[in-house]
Amino acid sequence: MARIGFVGLGNMGLPMARNLARAGHAVAGFDLDAARMQALGSGAASAAEAAAGADFIITMLPAGTHVRQAWLDGAAGTAQGLAAAARPDAVFIDCSTIEVAVAREVAAAVAQPMLDAPVSGGVMGAENATLTFMVGGTDDAFATARPILEAMGRTVVHCGASGAGQAAKACNNMLLAVSMIGTCEAFILAEKLGLSHQALFDVASKSSGQCWALTTYCPVPGPVPGSPANRDYQPGFAAALMLKDLGLAQAAAGEVGAVTPLGARALELYREFASLHGLTDFSGIIHQLRSNGSRPS
Ligand code: NAD
Repeated sequence: MARIGFVGLGNMGLPMARNLARAGHAVAGFDLDAARMQALGSGAASAAEAAAGADFIITMLPAGTHVRQAWLDGAAGTAQGLAAAARPDAVFIDCSTIEVAVAREVAAAVAQPMLDAPVSGGVMGAENATLTFMVGGTDDAFATARPILEAMGRTVVHCGASGAGQAAKACNNMLLAVSMIGTCEAFILAEKLGLSHQALFDVASKSSGQCWALTTYCPVPGPVPGSPANRDYQPGFAAALMLKDLGLAQAAAGEVGAVTPLGARALELYREFASLHGLTDFSGIIHQLRSNGSRPS
């Protein structure tokens, strides 16, 4: 059994913290929203109290600015952030989705070993402990933290040094956005050509066009009964979250001079879609792509 401080008990953090408690760990949670701590049932008075004495401290916060503040600045209720309140031998794990550069900055600023460990799998994955963790940090810190991550997820991949987890998340989600847009465009072209959705699915799902956006998350109703298209595009994975991740991918691309024209265009298209339909599943972008007004000029 480990003692774990868990900061950020939102849609993802609360079920993740619950799974750690179910696995037998002693979890002290903290969130700025008191109702979230009541929901966990083992709340701390402050982030510092959650961190004090813990073997592992985990953050699951909205964005890089919150992560930097929570660990370094004390905005989460401590004088100098979680890092100062923690034991010198504690292991730090940030599961938030943030900038590669901020993950590296915070890891370099703290004395304790720190892993960036963003996830995919969404709220369902968090509730069912089936998340995929993409982890950046040292071999030793990864080996120590692995059992903790396995209590919250099904797949845990050590991607490399600090920042590698966030890099993997940014690359994966950029690929997902581009493949979703491509899948939507193929269905739209098929509609215009008089080809049924099912016929395109039956061919492409067994051909070289096969991809996850088609076979698991099909953006038209029918071929994949469990996909959000069959429930009026209720998420799933909201367009606003995809927009955030594409912004992180483009920020990373800009910093290293990577040329990603489709990633850049995907960001523009999701910015347009999310401005009106941010809470809609990201596969709902097919509606926008169908409308003449949003076609690239
Ligand atoms: P959320 O907004 O539901 O939860 C964030 C929580 O952090 C809130 O409860 C908020 O009160 C709390 N918080 C903010 N600042 C704090 C601070 N300084 N101290 C303590 N608590 C603080 O967000 P979420 O959906 O749980 O997402 C968390 C992270 O996981 C994000 O980085 C997101 O991009 C990533 N993520 C989300 C999903 C998803 O499907 N929701 C999937 C994969 C990754």
